[in-house]
Amino acid sequence: MFDTIFSGGTVHDGEGGAPQQQDVGVRDGRLAAIGDLSEATARQRLDVSGLAVVPGFIDLHTHSDFTLVVDGRAQSQVHQGVTTEVIGQCGISCAPLRRRGDRVDLAAGHAPGALGDRQWQRFGEYLDVLADSPLGVNVAAFVGHGTVHRAVLGDALHAGEEEDIARMKRLVEEAMDEGAAGLSSGLEYWPGILSSPHHLVPLCEAAAHRGRLYSTHVRNRDRHYDLGFGEAISAARQSGARLQISHIQTKYGAPAYAGEHTLELIAAARRHGVDVAFDVIPHDWNNTGVISILPQWVREGGTRATLERLKDPAVRQKVKDNPAPMLLIVKARQWSKVKLLNARANRALIGTDFAEIGRQRGVDPYDAAMDMLIEEGDDAPRLMWATQSFSEAEIEMFMRDSHCAVISDTAALAPDGALADQLFSLSGYGWAARFLQHYVRDRQVLPLPEAIRRITSLGSPRFQCNK
Ligand SMILES: [Zn+2]
Repeated sequence: MFDTIFSGGTVHDGEGGAPQQQDVGVRDGRLAAIGDLSEATARQRLDVSGLAVVPGFIDLHTHSDFTLVVDGRAQSQVHQGVTTEVIGQCGISCAPLRRRGDRVDLAAGHAPGALGDRQWQRFGEYLDVLADSPLGVNVAAFVGHGTVHRAVLGDALHAGEEEDIARMKRLVEEAMDEGAAGLSSGLEYWPGILSSPHHLVPLCEAAAHRGRLYSTHVRNRDRHYDLGFGEAISAARQSGARLQISHIQTKYGAPAYAGEHTLELIAAARRHGVDVAFDVIPHDWNNTGVISILPQWVREGGTRATLERLKDPAVRQKVKDNPAPMLLIVKARQWSKVKLLNARANRALIGTDFAEIGRQRGVDPYDAAMDMLIEEGDDAPRLMWATQSFSEAEIEMFMRDSHCAVISDTAALAPDGALADQLFSLSGYGWAARFLQHYVRDRQVLPLPEAIRRITSLGSPRFQCNK
């Protein structure tokens, strides 16, 4: 006796095998049988003939760390078939914190009063809070290097001395012993951007000793993409950690051959025994915090100190003159390809490009962006923009590589409740659907069974805690 039988569907195993027409029986919320269940009994029987039946999707790269605590239903993910998320990516996690109850500068989730009296400091305490929330998805949580760095050094403008690195390593070890599934870094973000390989390798060793993965948002994916990817491979090689290169697509400003060269770098590393894989966002628009366009020296001392500096016209000029900001599409003033994605003070402008925002305000769009950071106040890290920084041809080239997983880089949200007014990426509610529709069905980049493997079984063994 099953609770539900899905009968007559085309069943994919998630490992790339040929799909077969079979029935699927579910009991107590779990898969109980696959095969010919025409004689079996069930409380309900759903005819799904003509439809694909697939394992739940695994999203290997999300920023739902805070939103899942605010509203764990993960409606935006569940409704497109995601059943597991790997959070804590790009160096940003909710723990460990410098002090209990410190603010977490994550871009999404800061609804007023949403946390109640739930607080944490250690990674394990955060996991306890998460486990107490009713969750719509399974969660594996990475500990972020940037968060660990801030726990030790706050927002000071330096990467730390030997004893600071030793403290960071102890925090990573503690986090892993308390349940962190891996270590991530975000080397284009404050404060990860301050670090050099010799700061990162000891932390990667902590991951390697426990058989955990190191995932990295590399330092540069435009002019010096080869240094950025080379640094990631070098850290993995020296530490012995398995490596996941996050959202690998190169950005506006990279040479046309950058993606191809990057695959050659990875292939060479794999030939010499480094365990490297990577993932891609199924979209040519990226999403990130506006505040990340600012150079390191503007970020010293935290959000309030940053916004105070931005009131100075001389500082603004230096920001605009920065020769190597995070997004060269902004440096190139391609403002029609830069759109406001998430804001609180300027909600009415969400979806508007910065050429238009500049016109409406009668100011240089670069100044408009800095004005809007100031207008957000403490929520400035939540101000996000989307830019058309990626190349479709390159995305498709990466997808054709068998080591390429497909990920959302988004945060789990819901259209009602505390997160209703938030956005995190252009396809947050439809990244998996967009992958299957645009790249698989329309562009035929991959056959469907292989496409499903990329969002189900591919990453799962690498992301598990082996020791
Ligand atoms: Zn990232």
